[in-house]
Amino acid sequence: MPIRPATADAIADAAAALREGRLVAFPTETVYGLGADATNARAVAAIFEAKGRPRFNPLISHVADAEDAARFAVLGPEATALAAAFWPGALTLVLNKRGDCPIADLATAGLDTVALRVPSHPVARALIRAADRPIAAPSANRSGHVSPTTAAHVDADLGGNVALILDDGPCAIGLESTVVDVSGDKPALLRAGGVTREAIEAVLGVSLALHTDEADRPSSPGQLASHYAPRATVRLNAIEPGPGEALLAFGPTAPAHSGPSMNLSPTGDLIEAATNLFAALRQLDASGAATITVMPIPETGLGEAINDRLRRAAVR
Ligand code: AMP
Ligand code: MG
Repeated sequence: MPIRPATADAIADAAAALREGRLVAFPTETVYGLGADATNARAVAAIFEAKGRPRFNPLISHVADAEDAARFAVLGPEATALAAAFWPGALTLVLNKRGDCPIADLATAGLDTVALRVPSHPVARALIRAADRPIAAPSANRSGHVSPTTAAHVDADLGGNVALILDDGPCAIGLESTVVDVSGDKPALLRAGGVTREAIEAVLGVSLALHTDEADRPSSPGQLASHYAPRATVRLNAIEPGPGEALLAFGPTAPAHSGPSMNLSPTGDLIEAATNLFAALRQLDASGAATITVMPIPETGLGEAINDRLRRAAVR
């Protein structure tokens, strides 16, 4: 049974596990989170694998305080005001990433923005400080199940996937964090949650634009403002790349190719493939090839999310 009361010893063990790239569930004031070292792409891939999420939506990275946040992202005047008013607390800010931001592309779904939150829960804060790195953490439930507000809920869904579950009783809020995008010209509400729109508007002195949750609209990638799209045309399920095309290969049977080429996982390991996906797309796009030809990838496990992302990249 991986549940442990959140003592100082257990928190230290959880931090060590995170640093080794393992998953740890921990309480926050909103819901229990499934945490991984946000700077470790492989650990982040393990989150998607454990949750069985059919797509790579961007994750929230949990940081110690606003100063810590400023190491990873640019905080303009609106972000600074919101951070001062609501951090620590149930508000997530979507911010422009710094060029040297070490948070993995897989944690931000390849976007130039990053979602950051400073939780107020003392166990979450102690864990972030002990791990000494940003912790990417969606809710600690299997995809499609409700968010967990007790350690027992987490154990029922993900007990076999985590190094340990830090137990500190039921979550106080039991609702997800409010997500506000302050990366553009106009602050926008991306998700309602623990902090009310009115409270946020009172701090900003303007009304929030409303964006529907794009992550939940699978079939209209053209409309996804926050969706990473390569410049090149993407051709899926190709057996053979044409001359001048870039090749995104998978597995041991990749064809020989004289043009730009990357193999997501020469051994056919889907976790490794997920880990490499966004960097590979960017690199092949940067090669200048007009077309990126993608070999078939099995539609099992993480392959479903990988194929979802590639299909979105292919539609334009
Ligand atoms: P969860 O981690 O399950 O609590 O969900 C995270 C929420 O934040 C989802 O609604 C995401 O779509 C949203 N989110 C995270 N990062 C970004 C980003 N860079 N841009 C837009 N939305 C984001
Ligand atoms: Mg969730």
